[in-house]
Amino acid sequence: MKKIDELPENVGRIVIAGHIHPDGDCVGSCLGLKNYLSVIRPRAQVDIYLEKFSEDFGFLQGAGEVCHELPEREPYDVAFVLDCSDTERLGDAVKYFTAAKRRICIDHHITNEGFSDENIICPDASSTCEVLYSLMEDSFVNRAVAECLYTGIVHDTGVFKHSNTKEETMRIAGRLITKGADPSYIIDETFYKKTFAQNKALARALDTAELWLDGAVIGSVITEKDFEELGIGSGDLDGIVDQLRVTDGVEAAVFLYEAPEGKCKVSMRANGSVDVSRIAREFGGGGHVKAAGCTVSGGWREIIDQIAGRIAEQLEH
Ligand code: 5GP
Ligand code: MN
Ligand code: MN
Repeated sequence: MKKIDELPENVGRIVIAGHIHPDGDCVGSCLGLKNYLSVIRPRAQVDIYLEKFSEDFGFLQGAGEVCHELPEREPYDVAFVLDCSDTERLGDAVKYFTAAKRRICIDHHITNEGFSDENIICPDASSTCEVLYSLMEDSFVNRAVAECLYTGIVHDTGVFKHSNTKEETMRIAGRLITKGADPSYIIDETFYKKTFAQNKALARALDTAELWLDGAVIGSVITEKDFEELGIGSGDLDGIVDQLRVTDGVEAAVFLYEAPEGKCKVSMRANGSVDVSRIAREFGGGGHVKAAGCTVSGGWREIIDQIAGRIAEQLEH
């Protein structure tokens, strides 16, 4: 498939799914595709399945119609899987994907090995939303689609500051503004706005951060005790690792939080020579060269030691 418009005119039932713990690119791409399909294939029945996501994305058209439960359904004619690098990251939606007659993955993760039948994976693209725009006919991109895609690009580029921001990213973002996306609303409301509790969590993580490997790496942990004391949930920790990364002199930032079942969620960011996608993959996760993550069983101290060891190995070479 080179363009979404190649879908048969009479396509019947379509499901769209993204990755677990949906982020801005995941929500933006799923809703953006649904809104686009409602323009080019208005008779198709399109369901979106995603885990619960931030209410900040509630203004995007179709956000209220996303299914968070997975009722039994007849196999779909087409399953689109967006911003998802492997079937494990699909969570429960894997059952719709497996049963679907046609399966198409659109993604930008370098660790995506092409698990679908049809794979459109562009590791150089800033975001799945950027890939998706390149598969759309510009004349059918309306304001609803533009708002979704712009949101995804803003989130995966950290508001156009990460190294994945290319000329093409800015060109597409500019085009989406022309189509009606409101940059200051989307950037403030979905990216920079923080609740009081989220700011407290950021403060805790910065206050307890440590430098390792002679200042080459910064790391911080939010423990179960912190969750209780601050009255926060795991959804309140977005952006912490990005703030750690901009510490002067560090090559990499590692942020962990204690997750249920004796596991820790690890987020990593790199500035220079470290490839964090390699480390994440080794621990069963994935992502990009400069932004990757994994969920690892065990206590945070031992996980930190192991990850710091892997970073040290890369810095030595
Ligand atoms: P974050 O650190 O913001 O959770 O994720 C950074 C990047 O790594 C994202 O592109 C995300 O999709 C990817 N990532 C994070 N955690 C995991 C994981 O457990 N498995 C895989 N495959 N990718 C992950
Ligand atoms: Mn994502
Ligand atoms: Mn993405």
